[in-house]
Amino acid sequence: MSARTVKVVRRPQLTFWERLYLPQILCGLKITTTHFFRNLFIHLAHRVGLLKHRRGGVTVQYPEELRPLMSRYRSRHRLTVRDDGAPRCVGCMLCETVCPARCITIVPGEHPDPNVEKYPVRFDIDIGICVFCGYCVEVCPEDAIRMDTGILDLSAYSREAMRLDIHELMDPALRKPLPACTLDFPHLCAQDHGEMKGSWKAAQS
Ligand code: SF4
Ligand code: SF4
Repeated sequence: MSARTVKVVRRPQLTFWERLYLPQILCGLKITTTHFFRNLFIHLAHRVGLLKHRRGGVTVQYPEELRPLMSRYRSRHRLTVRDDGAPRCVGCMLCETVCPARCITIVPGEHPDPNVEKYPVRFDIDIGICVFCGYCVEVCPEDAIRMDTGILDLSAYSREAMRLDIHELMDPALRKPLPACTLDFPHLCAQDHGEMKGSWKAAQS
């Protein structure tokens, strides 16, 4: 057995000027100031009709102002619906199976229409775990799940609120606490002290 060669890399000692940190602070200030005056100059030139071919930097006032999203941008999920308001999903479980983060939970049920094999009684996505890979959208044979809502604000005050249930997925405008359920097909949802907790909690209990 050959002995492993270990190369020891010693941390280089800081010089006196590096330990002062002042030169690096001045370097940073120089870069910021250069950008400031460059952009100021370009925007002033634009005002008088000059240098139109040069783009000056702009500050986007997020979240009041949103930049247009690319069409392929993956934002919050939604479940697409049929004309009768039922989900297009046929409960094939492909998205749940392919999901690398294992954040999709589906409970399929038998559909009364013999042309549709199944439908989701429960469909949850935990966006606190989701890595936004888009595999669930790509694998779906029914175009039943999309990530095109344009919703980027995914923060919530609790782990429970990060778990989108079938109500929130079918109507992206909804967020917990949900109003009374208006879905007219059989699905898992539960009222808890007047607050709709969604199918996730019902299935956990
Ligand atoms: S985007 Fe990726 S991680 Fe998120 S639910 Fe879909 S498959 Fe899972
Ligand atoms: S892959 Fe599509 S049809 Fe299949 S369970 Fe997922 S959303 Fe439903």
